Amino acid sequence: MRTARGSTRTSVVVAATAVALAGLGTSLVYADPGTSVDAPGHKAKNIILLIGDGMGTTHIDAARQRYYGAAGKLVMEQLPVLGSVSTYAVEPNSDKPEYVTDSASAATAWSSGVKTYNAAIGKDAYGNVVPTLMEQAKAAGMRTGNVSNAEITDATPAGMFSHASQRACQGPKQTQPACGSDVPIAEQIARNNVADVILGGGLSRFEPDDEAAMKANGYTVLGSFGDPAVALQTDASQRVATRTDLSAVTGSDRRVIGLFNRGNMTIEKYKREHPGAPQTNEPGASEMTKQAIRLLQNSQQAGRKGMFLQVEGALIDKRSHANDAAQTLDEMKEFDEAVRVARDFAERDGNTLVIVTADHECAGFNIIATGSFTNAEAAAPPTNVDSGNTANNSTPARASGNVKGPARSTGPINGSGAGDPKNFAPATFRTADDSAGVQDGSPDASLWLSYLSGNHTGASVELFASGPQSSRFVGKQDNTDLYDTMKASLRTLDR
Ligand SMILES: [Zn+2]
Repeated sequence: MRTARGSTRTSVVVAATAVALAGLGTSLVYADPGTSVDAPGHKAKNIILLIGDGMGTTHIDAARQRYYGAAGKLVMEQLPVLGSVSTYAVEPNSDKPEYVTDSASAATAWSSGVKTYNAAIGKDAYGNVVPTLMEQAKAAGMRTGNVSNAEITDATPAGMFSHASQRACQGPKQTQPACGSDVPIAEQIARNNVADVILGGGLSRFEPDDEAAMKANGYTVLGSFGDPAVALQTDASQRVATRTDLSAVTGSDRRVIGLFNRGNMTIEKYKREHPGAPQTNEPGASEMTKQAIRLLQNSQQAGRKGMFLQVEGALIDKRSHANDAAQTLDEMKEFDEAVRVARDFAERDGNTLVIVTADHECAGFNIIATGSFTNAEAAAPPTNVDSGNTANNSTPARASGNVKGPARSTGPINGSGAGDPKNFAPATFRTADDSAGVQDGSPDASLWLSYLSGNHTGASVELFASGPQSSRFVGKQDNTDLYDTMKASLRTLDR
């Protein structure tokens, strides 16, 4: 669709107009067909917040080109509202900015509306416990869900339903010098009843007494947290839940916890390449999203008060730290399929606000010109000489020229140079625009991807939204603003 990109801009203009006209009481319907109405006074009954962990603009651009071509659109890009979110953290006991955030500080920002330091979960920069949106939604009678393909005790999901000064305080209880006086996050989750539906990885963080506590509180526990008689740190009696366990849960108003791996869940690329492996029993992010919506919606409580669901595509970030673009792109596709599940539900429902954003960018991911090379591969940096206007030269001038250093690169890292530890070269991928026969890792593949680092960067991230109150998210905002905006958008909480 050649017009696809253009229609995004049109929709943003429509959304911005909706903001401008809201005070006049004018109701507007979006130009995009099928999108639920964002009309003044129409508060959202449900929110589905989808976080692509580490998902920067390039992750979105590269996934679009890889799977749909330059003129195509990811599902998230089909949502009519576009915004931008700043992501900085602060230093401990301070309001001094720390320009690059981690997932803990970012999750606390949108969960509780406060800036905090990197590693803090559900606490402000001075160590005070702050209430979260999911806690408030639960207290107000909403149905709540928390889904991640990381360990469910990891920072992004933890920020909605636990409080710890150090994110490393995940559990189990004997192994956590990081906890200080905090209760391990797994132990908190198992006892606080904040989320009705909990799906993800991280079984090894939980102990048999956590399972007993959850059952006493009415949870259906999929799999097993282990035998109390077996030593906890090597608990072979733990049984991970499977997608079959999950789909077998029926009945209304169910509380469910399903942990499908002892650690992080398995990447999509591995499951695809190992069709008989036990890891293929793990549901993907999209399937977990579908099942979480089913379990949350099959409820009189959801009918009266609505639901609040957070979904994290965590492995986008984890594979970006590893600079593995092939794994990262597959995770982007799976996360976008989770967005499709949420979007399709929201369009049927008509009362659901869908928000898709990220906690931060990861790894300085970028698209470079085909046939070019990165500064890390170069024998010398670019020259700073403008031969037509010497006033443009900078100091120090680098006159050696910008040439590729053969000792620093042997070609595309997912191709012939993959085994060379010195290789800083781009990874190359075929896209939907390439002709048949073009292979990943070949010089003629049209998508050339490079990394700046193995850690997060301070870049702003994109936000996409649809449904009631979605026009509130248009334009530039800070990650702490998301808390107030989500709260004000919800029928049950904005009282
Ligand atoms: Zn990260």
